[in-house]
Amino acid sequence: MDYTEYSREQLLDRINDLEMLTQELLKEKEQETRLEYAWTGNLGHWYWNIKTNEVTFNPLKVTKLGYDISEIPEHVTYQFFTDKLHSEDFQKTMDAMRDHLYGKAEVYEVEYRIRAKDGSFKWYYDRGKITQYDDNCKPLFLAGIVFDITEKKETQLELEYKNRILSEMSSIDGLTKIGNHRTLIEHLNAEIAEANRTCNPLSIAIFDIDDFKKVNDSRGHVYGDQVLVDVASIMKKSIRGSDFAGRYGGEEFMVIFPNTTVPVASKISERIRQAIEDYNFVDGLRITISGGVGQYNNETITELIHSADERLYSAKRNGKNQIVADI
Ligand code: GH3
Ligand code: MG
Ligand code: MG
Repeated sequence: MDYTEYSREQLLDRINDLEMLTQELLKEKEQETRLEYAWTGNLGHWYWNIKTNEVTFNPLKVTKLGYDISEIPEHVTYQFFTDKLHSEDFQKTMDAMRDHLYGKAEVYEVEYRIRAKDGSFKWYYDRGKITQYDDNCKPLFLAGIVFDITEKKETQLELEYKNRILSEMSSIDGLTKIGNHRTLIEHLNAEIAEANRTCNPLSIAIFDIDDFKKVNDSRGHVYGDQVLVDVASIMKKSIRGSDFAGRYGGEEFMVIFPNTTVPVASKISERIRQAIEDYNFVDGLRITISGGVGQYNNETITELIHSADERLYSAKRNGKNQIVADI
């Protein structure tokens, strides 16, 4: 460092800055000795002099990002790091720092991604605190520690992703991609509780594809599977956003109609029946469905499903391709 060009004031400022840093380093050294601070490969320390905007840090962080020590500028500024922040993490990192500087948060604490030299991103957990204030209580100096948590974060994100898939798998029917039996029962229980609370009407419909065995027998199970996918999709498109459609089992489907009386649920069920009757399945196949509609009347969930089922069988007995409701 060439100080020959510095004015007296600049030199005094510089001495002042260096004194502050020395104080921090001494404090740190003391703590390290006292606590036998365990230095590990993924830990770094940093100090930020707000007035000069100079950051002093353990070079580990930057070399870990793929930079050579010789590539690090003589004066590393706060922006040297923030320029490399992942765009999705920039705002929250700025907010965390601002909140601490303005006294809204006791510490600065944030997890963010920083771009490495090769363009990939590394995850860091960063935590710091103001350690010195000026006479007007304005922050002068911050000290902090930063952990490389890339491995931990990647494992965590992978686990979250797998959990999401698992939870989808346990609630969505693998073939038709609509709700499965379990989700239907969960939804229906929740809607029954809601109907009990609000005294609003609640209706359900159970549908069964007519003569589906013949489709499988004549065209094969793979074709039959595609018909189930198409039926589920037509059903989903025919209902309102507040209704819920699921595959009850085999070639049987259920639609839950919250806040709906039987006449309205029957009308929508009839619309579904008509849409399927009109649909041109692969190879020009035409199929039909039958349905039974029931309205919740303070009975158990099993009794409610049974009542809709009875009407479904009545529709089958009456010649299929029709909806029977309890009105
Ligand atoms: P009905 O009009 O009385 O309902 O006659 P059906 O032939 O539709 O009824 P049945 O209960 O005799 O046969 C149902 C058929 O649905 C038999 C079974 O192989 C078929 N099925 C159930 N689940 C699946 C599935 O996931 N894929 C395929 N391809 N077929 C299925
Ligand atoms: Mg059946
Ligand atoms: Mg059937």
